[in-house]
Amino acid sequence: MTSNLGPVELMVIQGSPFCNINCKYCYLPDRLNKKKISKDTVFKIIERLVQDNLLGKEISFIWHAGEPLAVPLGFYQDLFSIISQCIPSSTQVHHHMQTNATLLNDHWCTFIKEHDIKIGVSVDGPKELNDLNRLTRSGKSTFTKVMNGIDHLKKHNIRFHTIAVITQEALSHPNQIYDFFKSIGVTKLGLNIEEIEGINTTSSLSLDPASMQLLTNFYEVLYARQLDDNDPVIIRELDDAKRKILQIPLDYFSNHGITQQNNPYQIISVDIDGNFTSYSPELLGQKDEQYQDFILGNVHEESFLDAAEKPLFKTLRDDIFRGIRNCEKSCPYFSFCGGGAPANKYYENGSFSSTETLQCRYSIQTPLEIITRRLESAMP
Ligand code: SF4
Repeated sequence: MTSNLGPVELMVIQGSPFCNINCKYCYLPDRLNKKKISKDTVFKIIERLVQDNLLGKEISFIWHAGEPLAVPLGFYQDLFSIISQCIPSSTQVHHHMQTNATLLNDHWCTFIKEHDIKIGVSVDGPKELNDLNRLTRSGKSTFTKVMNGIDHLKKHNIRFHTIAVITQEALSHPNQIYDFFKSIGVTKLGLNIEEIEGINTTSSLSLDPASMQLLTNFYEVLYARQLDDNDPVIIRELDDAKRKILQIPLDYFSNHGITQQNNPYQIISVDIDGNFTSYSPELLGQKDEQYQDFILGNVHEESFLDAAEKPLFKTLRDDIFRGIRNCEKSCPYFSFCGGGAPANKYYENGSFSSTETLQCRYSIQTPLEIITRRLESAMP
């Protein structure tokens, strides 16, 4: 079984758990902890990847699980040079940061350009929507600072995508959301739903018929706006649904294996102390009795492959695999989805082997239904 592991496509590294703002729906614990990952730990991560032969042609380092810009810039200069020195030239390295943008300045922008870091900005739309949940520790608006950060990115000609969290309130404002993201010139907009995950144990969203109707209308309006626009904002959920319908064979997930989040060690997430997990990055840092906090091992103590021989790894892998197979047996969307996100299944349904979630109804099934309907109605 271990020979099928990896290659690692996403290496999620927690530079620090600290975040300078305090979004109401955040799932991450420990956001006041200012501890940073050590150079030694990063070196050990890379050493393990190389020795375990888990590198492929490309690897993306995602600096995440805290606000990545809340640590000094010099910190990344050191870590990036360790990575570029230790990863063999046969593997292409990409760096990614998902930021709240409030700390962006000219120094950061110069560094981002120099290292070609792919930047995602978290902003929920115009001020009225953004400031419902994305607030400072004292409960004040973050919007002006976010826009200031975006202005810095534009000044330095840095392309960026955005992620907006969709709440019940946002569902009533698709036009305002489209206009806002169009006006700030994003390359792509991802719509994450307000998820029940980690320490965020509730969501304003629900599956009742009125909410589902609101959701359908929300996507319908966004799709209509795209069609009316000569240079439309790419909307991840809608454009992914269209690409899957038009380009992916129906038996793809049955014949080609499973998705990144469902495949052991295609994603590895490591915390500031070197503890690591796999599958959904949202599992990192969460407390859990049943799965020993999802910690598969620690890079200072064991290799990734040694950890894969432990009972916890096998239990987690088997439970997640059971969930995929249950999806395959029961869900007509499986050939487009591949079995969903393990963290959503676990936190919403209490089990990795479960199937449908709020997240998959909102982000996978409904966009697919809308695009299918639109494509069918356009057929002769
Ligand atoms: S859409 Fe939901 S229920 Fe269907 S395969 Fe995906 S995760 Fe499973």
